[in-house]
Amino acid sequence: MGKHLVLVGGGHAHLTALANLGCYVRRGHRATLISSFRHHYYSGMGPGMLSGLYEPRQVRFNIQRMVQERGGQFIEASVTVVDPAAQKLYLDNDAQVSYDIASFNIGSIVPTAELAATDEHIITVKPILNLYKARNLILSQSARGITRVLVAGGGPAGVEIAANAWKLLHENAATPAVTLVAGNQILRGVPARARHLAVASLAARRIAIVEGVRVHSFENRCATLTDGRIIPFDFALVAVGVKPPPLFRASGIPVGEDGGMSVNGRLQSTAHPQLFGGGDCISVEGCTVAKVGVHAVRQNPILKHNLEVALDGGEMKRFTPNPNYMLIMNMGDGKGIMWKKRLVLNGGLAFLLKNFIDRRFMKRFQVSGELKDFSMGSGEGSWSL
Ligand SMILES: Cc1cc2nc3c(=O)[nH]c(=O)nc-3n(C[C@H](O)[C@H](O)[C@H](O)COP(=O)(O)OP(=O)(O)OC[C@H]3O[C@@H](n4cnc5c(N)ncnc54)[C@H](O)[C@@H]3O)c2cc1C
Repeated sequence: MGKHLVLVGGGHAHLTALANLGCYVRRGHRATLISSFRHHYYSGMGPGMLSGLYEPRQVRFNIQRMVQERGGQFIEASVTVVDPAAQKLYLDNDAQVSYDIASFNIGSIVPTAELAATDEHIITVKPILNLYKARNLILSQSARGITRVLVAGGGPAGVEIAANAWKLLHENAATPAVTLVAGNQILRGVPARARHLAVASLAARRIAIVEGVRVHSFENRCATLTDGRIIPFDFALVAVGVKPPPLFRASGIPVGEDGGMSVNGRLQSTAHPQLFGGGDCISVEGCTVAKVGVHAVRQNPILKHNLEVALDGGEMKRFTPNPNYMLIMNMGDGKGIMWKKRLVLNGGLAFLLKNFIDRRFMKRFQVSGELKDFSMGSGEGSWSL
């Protein structure tokens, strides 16, 4: 008898399962995707969307169409509670959905509670669609005098955001000013050469870098730093790292230290064999997996296969994280900075490589017609698998 497979969140780790949803349906199963949004935005191209290099339609997957064209059901809602004993999901629209097998790919959130980031001029970098909202807000006010953008967070996302906010302001604002508050050290853990190249690239554009301190709190369009300094801003973009949403802990499902659903190497809950997961929202037992999309993308075929096995039987595959992945930052000036292990590449070529990988990824999972007229803007943008 057919079973009910429910995918929660149409993120980067579910794309292969979504693209092959017909396989589950043809075997007599029901397949449903529950997602907070009809589109999924590819974060590798998010900073380019902020600067205007890409339009929103160029960086998003129409996951509703992906599902419906393959015989599945799409529900636009967020799951608020999971009841593993009853095998039920509770949604924010008051509906309930029963499942035989459920898989979670609900991403991560930027924790801002301690920063008191409640103003509409303070924008977190997740969900990625926020970057488009930020662009519009900044554009609507940038023609008037100085536009001061503050970026909180000195990791790869913060650096890309600062660099691409600079491009946006440079092209549209009368007097642009970008400040990056980087925490302890900008690009900590990244090869020193890549870090120096990034600092030089930002400094050449007079982007102010503040290291050794963090943003402590926001109030009245001012950021108070941990050393007491106060930096006024017109817009703040918050890229202080991510953590899994509270859903699993709130539902009493075992979680890892970071709050992600605790899964084994088969990407299966350590407590509930009917639950699977991938991407930023899981915590893999016995290993530390960085919250980067590269891992989410690599989990795709494993998750797709293991869901098939959970429905029909067979042998599951295991996910082994590869710590030696490549990252490329879009520096907002037509150049990129790429690193893998100790190899570092800087310049137009790194950017072209990023753009090639990103466009190929978009094409691979896009439903027909969505990418029509996908022409590049003035420069070219990634991810790196
Ligand atoms: C600016 C920026 C740039 C980045 N660049 C890179 C990069 O170049 N390379 C790299 O490897 N990583 C990069 N990352 C990290 C990357 O974004 C994450 O690791 C990646 O998004 C994780 O994918 P995911 O599928 O787990 O989550 P997401 O991409 O966040 O997808 C989760 C999906 O689940 C949906 N959802 C959430 N909650 C619910 C709910 N309760 N019910 C139903 N649906 C829900 C969301 O709407 C979303 O569509 C970047 C991050 C940022 C912020």
